[in-house]
Amino acid sequence: PPLYKQRYFFVKDIVNQYKPKKVADLGCGNATLLCMLKFHSCVQELVGVDLLMDRLLDWNSDKLSPSIGDHLGPRDLDLSIVLYRGSAVEKDSRLLGFDLITCIELIEHLDSEDLAKFPEVVFGYFSPGMVVISTPNSDFNPLFPASTFRNSDHKFEWNQTQFQHWASNVAKLYSYTVEFTGVGAPPPWAKHVGYCTQIGIFKKKQPDPGSWILAKPTGSRVSEPEEHAYQVVFRASF
Ligand code: SAM
Repeated sequence: PPLYKQRYFFVKDIVNQYKPKKVADLGCGNATLLCMLKFHSCVQELVGVDLLMDRLLDWNSDKLSPSIGDHLGPRDLDLSIVLYRGSAVEKDSRLLGFDLITCIELIEHLDSEDLAKFPEVVFGYFSPGMVVISTPNSDFNPLFPASTFRNSDHKFEWNQTQFQHWASNVAKLYSYTVEFTGVGAPPPWAKHVGYCTQIGIFKKKQPDPGSWILAKPTGSRVSEPEEHAYQVVFRASF
C-alpha cells in the first residue's frame, strides 16, 4: 500500500493493541484516519483538529456521520466524533484526558516558533497516555530521484538523529518513554537510511508507586480551568 495508508494502518494497529477509548488526531487533514478509526469498537470519543477544515468537510463529513448501517447494527458503546478548527500549538481543555493523541505528518509543517510551543501544549497540557508522532526521515531522501524536501510546505525534514534527539528530550522533560520505529522500509542494500517515515511512540510514565504522596492527586486535571480556543466544525454521535 502507499506510504500514507501504511501510516494509517500503523495507527490502527496501535489502537487494536492498546484499545484507547479517547483518541485525538492533531493535523487530521481530510480526516481519513478518523474515518478508519470509527470502526474500532473500543473507541468512544474521536476528535480531529486541523487549521484548515474546509476541504475536509467537502470530502469526508458523510463518512464521519452515522450511516444506515450504523443504525441497523448499533455499537455496544456510544461513539462521539468532534472536529475542531484550531492549532495543535494552542491549548483547549476539551483535549484533556485522552488515551491517545496522534500527530501524523504534522510537526514538519510547524515553524520554529510553533514547534517550540508544541511539546508544552501536547505533552505538558493535553498530557495523554500515549502520543504517536510521525515525520519524514531525511536520511531516506537520497533514495528519491530529486533530493529536495518532499513537500513545499515542509518547514524542515529531520534525519533520524535529529528526530530522536528532539523526541528523547521531549520525553524526558514531560516524563514519557519513547520508542522509535517507522513505515516504508528501505531496500536491503540501504538499511542504514532507516524507514521512509519515522515514528516515535511516547508513553506516559506511571508515577512511581513509592512516591504516591508526592504525586499530584488523580483527577487534578478536572480542576484545570476551561479553556476553549478551538471552534467546533462538525459533531456526530452514534
Ligand atoms: N495527518 C494527515 C494525514 O496523515 O493524512 C494530514 C497530514 S498533512 C501533511 C498536514 C496537516 O497539518 C494539514 O492538514 C495542515 O492543515 C495541518 N496543520 C499544519 N499546521 C497545523 C497546526 N498548527 N495545527 C493543526 N493542524 C496543522
